[in-house]
Amino acid sequence: MLNNLKPQAPDAILQLITLCREDTRATKIDLGVGVYKDGTGNTPVMKAIRTAGKQVWDAETTKVYTNLPGDPAFGNVMRDLVLADSVSADRVSAIATPGGTGAIRQAFELGRQANPDMTVWTSNPTWPNHVAILKFMGLPNSEYAYFDAESCTVDFDAMMDSLKGVKAGDMVLLHGCCHNPTGANLTLEQFGIVADLIAEKGALALVDIAYQGFGDGLEEDAAPTRLLASKLPEMLIAASCSKNFGVYRERVGCLMAVSETAASAPTTQANMNYLNRIAFSFPPDHGARLVTTVLSDPALTADWKTELEDVRLSMLGLRTQLADELRQRTNSDRFDFIAEHRGMFSRIGATPEEVLKMREDFGIYMVSDSRMNIAGLNPTTVPHLAEAIAKSCK
Ligand code: PMP
Repeated sequence: MLNNLKPQAPDAILQLITLCREDTRATKIDLGVGVYKDGTGNTPVMKAIRTAGKQVWDAETTKVYTNLPGDPAFGNVMRDLVLADSVSADRVSAIATPGGTGAIRQAFELGRQANPDMTVWTSNPTWPNHVAILKFMGLPNSEYAYFDAESCTVDFDAMMDSLKGVKAGDMVLLHGCCHNPTGANLTLEQFGIVADLIAEKGALALVDIAYQGFGDGLEEDAAPTRLLASKLPEMLIAASCSKNFGVYRERVGCLMAVSETAASAPTTQANMNYLNRIAFSFPPDHGARLVTTVLSDPALTADWKTELEDVRLSMLGLRTQLADELRQRTNSDRFDFIAEHRGMFSRIGATPEEVLKMREDFGIYMVSDSRMNIAGLNPTTVPHLAEAIAKSCK
């Protein structure tokens, strides 16, 4: 029977890692995979997480199952981190999930339970896994216009125009901050306009927030999600701790739902618990416990915030440096958008041929849609990338 299985296309980003590894040039730069790397190319364990790990190790007396939604303390700290006081706590339900990916999958499942005819609207482009999961689940997927490839900014008019097609009971997936793969983001005001449209249409917003703290700051990055929560009667939030706590392999995510009233929240919670039950029973706990430990201890929280801010500022510094280098080399402001983009990624608007040329001539490894991971750079490698872009992109 297994002979019936069809071959799976290899993952483009993972293929890129292999290609880069095999490249023997000392000047090669890996801008492919979406993990944060420090100036030495390492993805460190954050100090607060290491301390929390020791505390958990010493304090934990059992490894018995938690609850279907995970440890309720984790849901509470995530609610406070992402939503703060934008919505009353008794309207919020939460489940721990294996990573942000798990939260997104459960969000789609929950939407389908609520409306089997739902179409899910995703930005063009979006994180490819959004589309892949929807396709696998057989859920209808419509794209809304988002990125203007010419200016490398958001085409908000086109976005609003395509969202006119949203119907009551559809789901609209928005990136809460640090849009992946483009790096181009809506302003807070634009988020408000989109929220009004979603409310008017009677659709359900799903905010995917995987990079809180990587853009303009922890609070600033959560502001759009909080604005939506304050404006909309109900919404879903899929949060990932992989990047901002550096706990990638622990698989720490959280699906939160804001119900219309406190009275309807227990039913929402029960449905979310059920979705965990049928998918994997109890969600992973260790990584979630590390995050809870950090966020429940003021000293550890302060330590984590300082380190996260260093990470954020280092990426912003690299953006500014790259934009400056490109301004000098191209004698134009064409690449200024790199300094305006936020988060780990920027899509720079190069053609697949230009991306290939950068790889072959300069050892620059970026995804063929010209998404690059800013964290793959350091101040000494920026000039080499600037030269590659200036010489390869028309
Ligand atoms: N959403 C977006 C936009 C992402 O970029 C990612 C990670 N690449 C995720 C969700 C999921 O993150 P994880 O499952 O690793 O927590």
